Amino acid sequence: MLVAYGKTDKEYEIHDEWPFEPKSRGSGWQHQTCPKCSASRKKKTQPCMGTNWPEQRWECNHCHWKGCVAEEDQEIKQMPTKREPIADQVQPITPSVLKWLASRGISEATANAFQIKSTTRAGKECAAIPYYHSGKVVNWKYRILDGKQWSASKGGWLCAFNFDMLEPGQILVITAHTDSKILLT
Ligand SMILES: [Zn+2]
Repeated sequence: MLVAYGKTDKEYEIHDEWPFEPKSRGSGWQHQTCPKCSASRKKKTQPCMGTNWPEQRWECNHCHWKGCVAEEDQEIKQMPTKREPIADQVQPITPSVLKWLASRGISEATANAFQIKSTTRAGKECAAIPYYHSGKVVNWKYRILDGKQWSASKGGWLCAFNFDMLEPGQILVITAHTDSKILLT
């Protein structure tokens, strides 16, 4: 069964087919320009439109156009209308997280600029790195200090780290790891 927003929710348009071509049919949320608002925006190339091919829906974080593809007689499963902020428990950054970051060349000032925190996952201390999208934390990535494992928030958005920094006309450097990205900043 297709997962889509309820038909009664006026905020979401129900279409029988995509009204525009999603640039990517990959998993999770993909980003592109919005066919409704991008042309009239100052930031014409900003990828403000999120498309989710597996879930057959889209949301623009600029003009807030939201919709999904569903058939008239299709059973629609009700979904929450608003994405809840990720409510993971994180604590202020600890000296051990700062020490771990310093060993990777990341200063306390940079850690604070990226609002890196501390947390405990499976009984182990972790650095907690927030992923922002449109000013909101949409995911946390966790790195165990005495190991190599990374993990992330359950149900977090898959979006590029530091997405909010994207500006048209700037050079975009894509790095393999979150900490490389922080180092370059
Ligand atoms: Zn838009």
